[in-house]
This record gives sequence, structure tokens and C-alpha cells, in this order.
Amino acid sequence: MNEQAFEREQIISNLNKSKSHDLTYDRVLSSMCTYPHEIAVHAHIQFIESNMGDFGLFQGTYNLEKKVIQSIGNLLHHSEASGYMTTGGTESNIQAIRSMRNNLSSKKKCGKPNIVVPDSAHFSFDKVSDILDIELRKASLDEELKVSIQSVQSLIDENTIGLVAIAGSTEFGQVDEIEKLSEIALQNNIFLHVDAAFGGFVLPFLEKTHEFDFKLPGVTSIAIDPHKMGLSTIPSGVLLFKSADYLESLRADTPYLTVSTQYTLTGTRSGAAVAATYAVMNLLGKEGYRKVVSKCMEATYYLLDRLAEIDVYPLIKPLMNVVALEVPEADLVRKKLAKDFNWQVSITQKPHGLRLVIMPHVTLEMIDYFVQDLKKVLDTIN
Ligand code: PLP
Repeated sequence: MNEQAFEREQIISNLNKSKSHDLTYDRVLSSMCTYPHEIAVHAHIQFIESNMGDFGLFQGTYNLEKKVIQSIGNLLHHSEASGYMTTGGTESNIQAIRSMRNNLSSKKKCGKPNIVVPDSAHFSFDKVSDILDIELRKASLDEELKVSIQSVQSLIDENTIGLVAIAGSTEFGQVDEIEKLSEIALQNNIFLHVDAAFGGFVLPFLEKTHEFDFKLPGVTSIAIDPHKMGLSTIPSGVLLFKSADYLESLRADTPYLTVSTQYTLTGTRSGAAVAATYAVMNLLGKEGYRKVVSKCMEATYYLLDRLAEIDVYPLIKPLMNVVALEVPEADLVRKKLAKDFNWQVSITQKPHGLRLVIMPHVTLEMIDYFVQDLKKVLDTIN
């Protein structure tokens, strides 16, 4: 730390310089985040000092959080769901599995508890396994890149405490057969956590209906991220439990705060993100999100049409605004797109392909430029 204070102008100038080294989203096709909605930014700034880790001091923000939880519960067919605002999908997944462990592992036979997750699960589940010392059993995928129901069934044993289903996989935007997984969870008397971190703000607003939420009786918890397709500010995640008991199992006593208990993983928590999420959800409503999703899907279909003109096709028919493309040497293509044309795309592992996320910042004009540049890169490789 510098001994003497810098001039304010100097700091602002340094900040501007650093900001200029950040990418804007204008050439980003790899991220599941985007520019937050203007009203979310407004609310975030207004509540900037609010700490939900000690919400007795911030009752107004706490009431907003309760409204967010109820409203997302309602969206996911369970207005009575219990939960709280997390920092995002990773924290929600950790806490969901921690709750499973606290509730069920003592009732299980003897060995190390395990959970069965799709091979397509986000890497946050590797962190879950490490932090909670729970065995992660990865079920294989079928040809549509949904988890194989047979594989899930074969991995369940007397120490399985729960299953994970993905509603919008990170790499492919695929949705598992959650109805079937719900039945399996009920038959085996184990938990079912649905990771809808990305898909939670997409699936309810698509024309086609997908069953993935608390409507299914076996679903016990859901992760859904307002800071992805919900257009809220970072860090905004939501974790919902079917029953208050599951949240209760995460309780910690907090003797020196204004409130005596906490259920969260982090202590200090952003009230700004709570206010931002409340604001954007209320401003848009279901009607507004339907428009956002419909615009992203139109852009996704437009991209597919333009790609077909240069003989590039998706690995699976996209269900949502995540597209995985079959291209030769995907990693090299990704690097060349970044180096020569400044495009940020990512890759999928199995099967290997190029991955694009068509977030609300992606315009048809961007897609036109991207397809032109992709063709140039592919011509150098073929
Ligand atoms: N789950 C899924 C399906 C995701 O796609 C992601 C992130 O992309 C996460 C969890 C982790 O979310 P976060 O980065 O907000 O912790």
C-alpha cells in the first residue's frame, strides 16, 4: 500500500486505464453473463452499502429478498419455497448438496456419501465434492447429451444421498429428463437438486414447455441465477428448497449480530444484488422476460441459418440460446478467432466443438460479422 494518498484524479485515471483493458461484451460470445438491466444498476448503486449478512440492520433490503424468493418460487411453481440469494450457481450448488448431506447422510448405511450428477454438470460440483468430501458419481450422457437414465440408476447405491439434474447445461444448453429423475429420486427416497443456474430464466419463457421445477414432486431444490439471463447485477444467485427443513439444516448461530441465525455460506452478503434483482424482475415481469428470451432465440436461429450458409452445423439442435458447433480443430479455431478477430468463444469437451452463448447483448449485426470471420478462420484450417 502506498504511504501517501494519491490524488483522486490519479485514481480515476488509473481506473479508466484498467477499465480500458477489460473487454466489452461487443465481441463476447462465450459468457453466460451480460450487461445488467439499467434499473438493476440503479438499484444496485442505491443499496450499495446494504449487508445481508446482518440483515437486522437492513430490514428494507431483507423484505426485498423475501419478495424475490417468493416471486422466483412462484415462477418455479412453489410460492412457499424457502431459500435465499447466493453469490451465484456455485454457491447454490454447494449449499444444496450440503443440505442433502446434513439431512440424509446420517440415515444412510455407513460408507462415504455420494451424489450422482450428469457428466455434463458444471465444474462447481467438483468443488462440492472436494469441500464436502462427498463422492461424485458422473453418469454418462445419451446421444442427445442428456444424462442417461440407465446410467444414473446403475450408479445409485445405499450411500447415495441425492441426484443432480441440469436444466440448461453449461456447454450445450441441454435439459435432462427431469420428470424421470424425479420419479427415481422418489423411488429411492433421496434428494433431487436441479441446476437451473442458466436455464431457470430461459425455460419458463420459451414457447415449448419443459418440466424442470417444483411441479415435479421429486425436485427438492433448485439453483437459478438472476445474474445470468435474469439481467440482474453480479453477484445474484438464488437457491430454493422445497421444504423449510432443508434450509434449516444449514443453520449457523450468529451470537454477535442483530440476527441470531444465518443459513448462508458467506457471511457478509450483497444487499445491492438483492435490490437489483427485485427491481429488474418487477420491471420486466414474465412478459418482459418472454421478450428477452424470444429475442435471444431469434438471434440463435438467425445464427444457425447464417452458419448453414458456410456449412457449419450444431452438434445438437439448440433448445435454448447455447449453441455447440461441429468444427474441425475447435480449440485452434477458438484461438484464431480471439487472436485475429478479437472474438471470445469457448469450446465444449465431449464432444469437442465450438460453444457460443447468444446473450441479450448479441445483435444480428454481430452475428453477421462473426460468421464472416469464422469462415475466414475455417478457410485457413481446411
Ligand atoms: N451451473 C451452471 C449450469 C452454470 O452454467 C454455471 C455457470 O456458468 C454455474 C452453475 C456456476 O455459476 P456461477 O459462475 O454464477 O457460480
